[in-house]
Amino acid sequence: MHFFELLKLCQRLLFFLPLTTANNPETPKTSLRANSFTYDNPAEWHLEYPQCGGQKQSPIAINSNKTVNVDIPAIVFGSYDVFFSNFVVLENNGHTIKFNVPPTIERVLPYITNGPLKDIYEAVEVHFHWGSPLTKGSEHQLNGKRYDVEMHIVHKNSKYSTVEEAREFEDGLSVIGAFFKVEKTIANIFYPGLSTVFNTVPYVLRYNSTASTQQLITLGSLLANINRENFYTYQGSLTTPPCSEAVTWIVYPEVIPISVLHLKNFWFVRDEEGRKLLNNYRPLQPIGSREVYYRSDMGVLNYYF
Ligand SMILES: [Zn+2]
Repeated sequence: MHFFELLKLCQRLLFFLPLTTANNPETPKTSLRANSFTYDNPAEWHLEYPQCGGQKQSPIAINSNKTVNVDIPAIVFGSYDVFFSNFVVLENNGHTIKFNVPPTIERVLPYITNGPLKDIYEAVEVHFHWGSPLTKGSEHQLNGKRYDVEMHIVHKNSKYSTVEEAREFEDGLSVIGAFFKVEKTIANIFYPGLSTVFNTVPYVLRYNSTASTQQLITLGSLLANINRENFYTYQGSLTTPPCSEAVTWIVYPEVIPISVLHLKNFWFVRDEEGRKLLNNYRPLQPIGSREVYYRSDMGVLNYYF
C-alpha cells in the first residue's frame, strides 16, 4: 500500500477508535482525592484521613419530608451548553472513571453561580459511582431509594487557585450530583453527550488507562434534559479521602435514564490490583444537625395553597 494511502487509513481508524493509552505519564492528575484508599474499609478511612470522621460528611440520605423549602434564585449555568474545545479524555484512576473538564470553545471553563452559591465555581472534573450486578451504586439516597449510578460534576470556587487549596475551605467546592436509573425503553431516548462518554468506558477498563472520546460534547449535555431549577442543597464533604468538608452539594431529584448496556460497562472496570471495581460508593453518613434545603421553580409560597 502506498504510504499516503496507509496514512489516510490510519487517520480514518484514529477517527473511529477512541485513543487508548496505558500508563500515560502525560495525564494530568487532579488532587481532588487521595490515592491510597479502597472501598473495602470505608469505616476506617478516618484513621488515615481524620476529616472522614467529621460531622458534615457525605453522602447522606435525603428525605423529602424533612427538607426545608427555600426561596433562592435558580443556579446560573455559565458556558455549560457551549461545546468543549477538545475531546474529553476518560481516565481510570482505580477509584472511578473520570475526566478533567476542558475549556469550551469560548476558552473558559463552564461554571455555576447563584442558587446557594455566593461565588463563581468552575467545573473541574466529572466522575461516576456505580454498584454491581446485584447492587445499585448511587452515593446519596433519595426517600430511601438508591439509584444505579450517580454522576458528580465537581466545581472549584474560582477565588482559590487549586483544588487542593479550595478543599481547605467551607466554600471551596460545589458538586452537582445526578442519579441514573436503568430504562429498558431507552432506545427511543438519545442523549448524545452521555452516550459519547458511556461508549468510551469500555476503553478504560484497565487501571491508569485513558481514552479520548471522538466527538465534542457540552458539559450541560451530561445532565440530559432534567429540570436544573429544582434541586436539594446541603453542606457536606468529598465522598472520598481526604473527605474535606468543603462541598456545597446540589443534588437533583429528577433521574436520568441509562441503558442497561451502558450500566454494565461500569461493572468491568478494574482497580489498581486488577480486581473488579464494584460498589465504589461510600456508605451513608449521619446528617447530624444539618438541614437539607429544597429549591423549586414553583417557589416556596405554592406549598401553602
Ligand atoms: Zn463522587
